[in-house]
Amino acid sequence: MKIVVKIGTSSLTSDDGVLRHDVVAAIADQISRAKTQGHDVVLVTSGAVALGIAGLRLDRRPTDVLSLQALSAVGQPQLMAAYAKAFESHGHVMAQVLLVPHDFVDRTQYLHARDTMLKLLELGCIPVVNENDAIANNEIRYGDNDHLSALVSHLVSADVLLLLTDTDGLYTTNPHTDSTAQIIPVVTADDPLFQVDARQSGTDRGSGGMASKIAAARIASWSGVVAVIASAETPDVIARIIANESKVGTWFLPHDRQLSARKLWIAFAAEVEGSVVVDAGACEALISRGTSLLPAGVVSVVGNFVAGATIEICDEASRVVARGMAAMSSLEIEQSQGKRSSDIGSNVSIEVVHRDDLVILQL
Ligand code: GLU
Repeated sequence: MKIVVKIGTSSLTSDDGVLRHDVVAAIADQISRAKTQGHDVVLVTSGAVALGIAGLRLDRRPTDVLSLQALSAVGQPQLMAAYAKAFESHGHVMAQVLLVPHDFVDRTQYLHARDTMLKLLELGCIPVVNENDAIANNEIRYGDNDHLSALVSHLVSADVLLLLTDTDGLYTTNPHTDSTAQIIPVVTADDPLFQVDARQSGTDRGSGGMASKIAAARIASWSGVVAVIASAETPDVIARIIANESKVGTWFLPHDRQLSARKLWIAFAAEVEGSVVVDAGACEALISRGTSLLPAGVVSVVGNFVAGATIEICDEASRVVARGMAAMSSLEIEQSQGKRSSDIGSNVSIEVVHRDDLVILQL
């Protein structure tokens, strides 16, 4: 089995932000055992920013992104040193891979990243992945590597993405405040739970949280990967997930439609910069015939964006029908909305979003 294990800052550090070597040791022990049994494991870890804060003895986490980026560069080598030592004690070799969001959008970068990861697995190494926070800041702003781990699970065609956190899984209500809260064992691919806003906040030490985990599980689901949210504290959690112990954690089942890395990015990971409302005819053409979106079907435009921005395409009842990468700016769309290409004086068809850059989200 190929499994991607993601561990976040709040599981890896104590309340005062210091690295918990006992957790690193337990993770390395469990991953080493899985390796010895012949499984391929990729570890996606956060903690660089937190270790940078502790390393420089700062009182609290700065709020500006640039400081967080710089702090990640301080903490990342310390984090890797701790893992390298822990894996070495089991006779395993780890390899650091730092990725940026663009690696998943650009086909050439994507293939390079994939080939390197697969080569590392072939060499028997344990790839340990983090976002290259010093030059990219997506996971600092939101996600704490949740998105990244889901994209990595697509990259290596994993069977399972295991999102380790500080609760046993997803609950019906907040288990810290509601004693009647119950764990949800299975979430199917068409469950409305998947419609969360991934930007809801995490903890003081990390930037994740349950919403970003569900969003990551959704990316995994649309990649054909099973995602599991489980507690980092559960004994032998990795072995138990590999053994398909369904009573551990919340299991998210894969969608029967699978998207390419680029479409996954457009659909779920890229920041939405605006939206267009389209009429019923355009909706029908997008959903049933897989066409590109043309200006004629656009009723209105929301937000200011440039060509290349990720936008939502909504029907007249404000339901999100699709997401896509705009081929025109918001201003250009406004000037041409409701018009046919010939009315705009063009003899080639003008597209608001090309069908290759468009993902239908209605099930
Ligand atoms: N990739 C970051 C890290 O390793 C994300 C965590 C955060 O936002 O603090 O530290």
